[in-house]
Amino acid sequence: MNAAAALRRPASYYNASIAVTLAPTTPLAGESRVDVCVVGGGVTGCSAALHLAERGYRVALLEAGEIGYGASGRSGGQILPGLGTDIGVVEKALGHERAKSIWEMSRESVRLTADLVRRHDIPCDLSWGYLHAAVKPRHVRELREFRDTLAERYDYPALSLLEGEALREHVVTDAYPAALYDAEGGHLHPLNYTLGLARAAQRAGVTIHEHSPVVAIQRGSPARVRTAQGMLTADHVVLAANAYLNGLVPELDGRIMRAANYIIATEPLGDDQVARVLPRNDALSDANFVLDYYRLSGDRRLIYGGEVSYDGREPRRLQARMDAKIARLFPALKGVRIDYRWGGDVAITLNRAPDFGCLDGNLFYAQGYSGHGMSLAGLAGKLLAEALAGHAERFDLFSAMPHRPFPGGRWLRTPLLVLATHFYKLRDRL
Ligand SMILES: Cc1cc2nc3c(=O)[nH]c(=O)nc-3n(C[C@H](O)[C@H](O)[C@H](O)COP(=O)(O)OP(=O)(O)OC[C@H]3O[C@@H](n4cnc5c(N)ncnc54)[C@H](O)[C@@H]3O)c2cc1C
Repeated sequence: MNAAAALRRPASYYNASIAVTLAPTTPLAGESRVDVCVVGGGVTGCSAALHLAERGYRVALLEAGEIGYGASGRSGGQILPGLGTDIGVVEKALGHERAKSIWEMSRESVRLTADLVRRHDIPCDLSWGYLHAAVKPRHVRELREFRDTLAERYDYPALSLLEGEALREHVVTDAYPAALYDAEGGHLHPLNYTLGLARAAQRAGVTIHEHSPVVAIQRGSPARVRTAQGMLTADHVVLAANAYLNGLVPELDGRIMRAANYIIATEPLGDDQVARVLPRNDALSDANFVLDYYRLSGDRRLIYGGEVSYDGREPRRLQARMDAKIARLFPALKGVRIDYRWGGDVAITLNRAPDFGCLDGNLFYAQGYSGHGMSLAGLAGKLLAEALAGHAERFDLFSAMPHRPFPGGRWLRTPLLVLATHFYKLRDRL
C-alpha cells in the first residue's frame, strides 16, 4: 500500500455511524478520457459530479483519500442560509441587487440540500431549527439590526428574536441573553450526506476513484490530470479541494487560509438530559467571532464544536476545555462522557465570502466557504455544472465577488491570521 492509500477519514462519531455504502471504487490507474474530471470528494465535488452526470457529461471524480475525508465528513453539520461573511460585505462589493440574489441563492442551497436528501433517499438525520445566540449585550443589538436588515432589505422575515422563557423553550441555559431563531436552518449527519451524494453520483454514471491524489494538472484544452499511477484527459476540470488544496493550483492557494476546527461528541443523552439541553433539537452557534456551535446527533449525542488551531496541532487541553464549556452551559451534563473527538480544516478567505471562478476557460473552482459551506457547497456543485454547460449567470454572481490574497505571502499569512484571531478573541471577551 502506498502513502496515498493511507488517507483514511479520522476516527469520529460520523465515521463510526456510517449508514451509506458506495459501490466499490479503485484508485485511478492507466490513462482514460472523460468530459469532466472533478478533483475532491466532499460536498462540492460530489454535488458537481452528480449534477454534471445528470446533464449527460462523462465524469470521473478523483479523491485523495476516502469520500468525505475533508471538511464535509467532519463538520458540525449545520445547514444554514447566508454566507460565512456578513451580507453587508457582499452588498458593499456588488451592490444591493446582486447581494440580494446571492442571499436568495443561499436560501436555495438549504432547500437544495433537503431536496437531494429526499430524492436520493440519504439517511442523514436531517432536522430543522437554528438559533444564533447572543453572548453579550452588544450581540443582542447586532442580532436585532441583522433581523431588521434582512426583513426590510432582503425579504427575509423568517427570523425572530427570542428572549427569556421563549428562548429557554429551545435551549435550556442562562448563558444567552437572546437568540435569533431561524426555521429555515437545520442540521444533518454530514458524512452520511456526503456519502449519499457520492452514491447518487455513482448511480448517475460517475466513476469515483478514491485514494487517487492528483499530483499535477497540466493546464490546457484538454487538460491532463495526473495521479501517481494514472492520467485523465478531460475537456474540463472542476477543482473542489477546498482547504486540502495544498498548493496544487498556486493562484488559488494564496486566496485561502487553512485553519483547523475541533469537535467532540458525548455519549448518547437520556430523555431528561435532552429536555434540559436542546428540547426542540435545534442547531445553535454563538455570535462570537471565534464561535462555538452545537446540536444533537440522530442518536442524541451532543456534537459540540469550537476551538481553532493554525499550525495543524490540536490545542492544548482541548477535551478539558470542551468539558468545562459544556458544563458551564448545561449543568445537567456535568461529567457526561465524551466518546469522540476530531478536527478538520476550514478554508477561510480574506473577506470570508466564498471564492468561485474559472481559470483558462476550463478549470472551474469553488472554495473558501469560511466555515459556512455545508449547504452552499451543494449549490456550488449545481452552479458549477450550470456554468460548465454554458449557463454561467448564477455562478458568475458569486465569482464577481472580489478576492485578494492574504497579506504576508506564504510564510507570513498564518502568523498574521493568528494575530488577527487573538485580537477578535480578545474582543469576544469584551
Ligand atoms: C470542524 C468543521 C466544522 C464545520 N462545521 C460546519 C457547519 O456546521 N456548517 C457549515 O455550513 N459548514 C461547516 N464547516 C465547513 C464545511 O464543512 C465546508 O465548507 C464544506 O464541507 C466544504 O466542502 P468541500 O467539498 O468544498 O471541501 P472538503 O469537504 O474539504 O473536500 C475537499 C476534498 O478534496 C480532496 N482533495 C484535496 N486535494 C486533492 C487532490 N490533490 N487530489 C484529490 N483529492 C483532493 C480532499 O481529500 C477532500 O476530501 C465545518 C468545517 C469543519 C472542518
